[in-house]
Amino acid sequence: MLDNHSFREQAHKLVDWMADYMENVADLPVKSQVAPGSILAQLPEEAPTESEDFQQVFEDFQKIILPGITHWQSPNFHAYFPGNSSYPSILGEMLTSTMAAQCMIWETSPAAAELEERVMDWLKPLMGIPESWSGCIQDTASTATLAALLTAREQVCDYAINKEGFYNVERQRYYCSSETHSSIDKAVKILGGGEQNLVKVASDEKLAMIPSKLEEAIADDIALGMKPTAVVVAIGTTGTLAIDPLLEIGKVCKKYNVWLHVDAAYAGTALLLPEYHWMIEGIEMADSFVFNPHKWMFTNFDCTAYYVRDKEALLNTFEILPEYLKTKTRGKVNDYRDWGVPLGRRFRALKLWFVIRDFGIGGIQKRLREHISYAKWLKDQVESNDNFEIVIEPVLNLVCFRYVSKELNDVQIDSMNERLIAQINSGGKAYLTHTKIHGKYAIRMVMAQTYLKLDHIKSTWEVIQNCVHELEDNLK
Ligand SMILES: *Cc1c(COP(=O)(O)O)cnc(C)c1O
Repeated sequence: MLDNHSFREQAHKLVDWMADYMENVADLPVKSQVAPGSILAQLPEEAPTESEDFQQVFEDFQKIILPGITHWQSPNFHAYFPGNSSYPSILGEMLTSTMAAQCMIWETSPAAAELEERVMDWLKPLMGIPESWSGCIQDTASTATLAALLTAREQVCDYAINKEGFYNVERQRYYCSSETHSSIDKAVKILGGGEQNLVKVASDEKLAMIPSKLEEAIADDIALGMKPTAVVVAIGTTGTLAIDPLLEIGKVCKKYNVWLHVDAAYAGTALLLPEYHWMIEGIEMADSFVFNPHKWMFTNFDCTAYYVRDKEALLNTFEILPEYLKTKTRGKVNDYRDWGVPLGRRFRALKLWFVIRDFGIGGIQKRLREHISYAKWLKDQVESNDNFEIVIEPVLNLVCFRYVSKELNDVQIDSMNERLIAQINSGGKAYLTHTKIHGKYAIRMVMAQTYLKLDHIKSTWEVIQNCVHELEDNLK
């Protein structure tokens, strides 16, 4: 069994392995190529009774586990949205897991609560979030959105559902665009809203919500005696990074007194660049805002920044005070367990603090601008190549494009793109995913890896073209 001496020895070895991994991750097959069940088959059916040598455990990690890992930190990972890490973030996580403090309330680790407050406050002016708002760290955007919609639910009925259940309340209605993330559907289900009460408002050519359609939906619901409760605006949808017009939607929400939640899970990081503050013009009309430093801000999962205009509404929704959690400091400090669903909380502010200090805001901005410039480069390549077309105007560092051919019809083009992605991903040199845009199958390429350089984009673009040639040869 590991003791302090052997822990020290093994930890040093692991750190060397970690540095080697980071150095060589670009050479590993990005998407794990294993067949379903193949990892399970290598693991014994019963847990060991006796202690096993850690050296053996670590060898099994390398032999059995690693081949079943998709390398999210590879600079050739362009799928979904990234789940970035970085050197300072990893070091922060090492310390967090060593102290393993439960940071549920201020008393259980004052530094965790106060660092969280400070780091959340740092980001507000940089991102254009109103000074008077309050921020905390949640595990995921899904949880933060659930917290927002629960608060909206309670505020609209004067906390009646929390007290009595759903017996005497009006039917509540929630709104988002047809493009918004599935976490909204999930939140409405969990909070007891009923999925039929989530109204999917039509979006325009750019896939952004149409404010006049939202207003029509709200007015129709009021006419039917229902209660418009919350609207979720997407600043950067998951498919294409479409940006809902916050200012106009904000005016509708103010007019009808509806909670306005802003989901900027991925694109929110770009607000660290002053030139992108236009994305949240009208934020002062919103009630809550979420973005994920664990996506594009170089901070390990999990780390979600959640901001709310009226902290009291949030606390009134979640606060519960059993005897064993009563403290003398209550009311003078932030007890973050009242700010969301779980009681227990990891010390997540530490890694974010490390990242911000190690990069500096200027260093973060530099990288974000580089990433955005890669998308411009790729767009130019796509546009100057007869085999490809841009499917929707790129936003930030996401380019949606597809293979096209005059000899193929729409259905054939879709299936060709599907095969193209499969071919690229099975080669292991890059990992891309797809979306559907106005019915067309489109390849999504996100350029957001922490240590990404233009050379990686160039070589992925070559991989894509080579795969096209192989597929075209097969067709002949
Ligand atoms: C990724 C994403 C989410 C969900 O984020 P989690 O932190 O994994 O819950 C929600 N909304 C949008 C727009 C996203 O891109």
